Amino acid sequence: MDVFKSEFISSSPNVKSCPFEFIPEYPFIGRSNVGKSSLINSICQKKNIAKTSRKPGKTKLINHFKINNSWYLTDLPGYGYANVSKTLKKNIDIIIEDYFLYRKQIRLIFLIIDIRHDPLEIDLTFISWLISHGKRFTLIFSKCDKLKNEEVQAQNYITKIKKKFNETPKYFITSSKKKVGIKEILTHINDHNNL
Ligand code: GDP
Repeated sequence: MDVFKSEFISSSPNVKSCPFEFIPEYPFIGRSNVGKSSLINSICQKKNIAKTSRKPGKTKLINHFKINNSWYLTDLPGYGYANVSKTLKKNIDIIIEDYFLYRKQIRLIFLIIDIRHDPLEIDLTFISWLISHGKRFTLIFSKCDKLKNEEVQAQNYITKIKKKFNETPKYFITSSKKKVGIKEILTHINDHNNL
């Protein structure tokens, strides 16, 4: 699928204020600093549609981007960053949880993992939550340009997930810097749009 149009629609503080339109929706989520904004920019083919920031945890809203007039990509608050208060963390957890529980438009969730990391507690907690709530998700390993054995590292990660949850999620290996894996994600989304 080619992206011929990508536009920012809205920033919503909670699921109730998200756009009303019922079109397929694909949330992107991950730990702060995982490369989510860079990935969204690459998918949207715009340099700065999602603000890439070195300051972790800047996005605290649910940002909707409409692609090709036909589906939404949503940028969710990053989780697991250190420099915010407990209350704010809790609020973000509630925003995220409510969004996944009540946003019926969601076709598939993309969970972004920095390919250099072994499974981290916070990601495992989130994966466990997704599985226990029957939510469909695909993993995106980011920043693959930083490794030489990216396929092995990804396989190791998946093996650990399988061992722990008895699930083998689909995954993509990507680099926003080198534009690796972006086309494949778009094809995957296109397949789901046509379901
Ligand atoms: P976010 O907090 O998850 O939205 O992450 P950002 O997109 O803001 O990226 C966090 C940091 O990782 C920035 O310094 C980016 O330049 C860097 N980064 C993001 N994607 C890549 C990538 O594909 N390769 C490399 N080498 N660095 C990346």
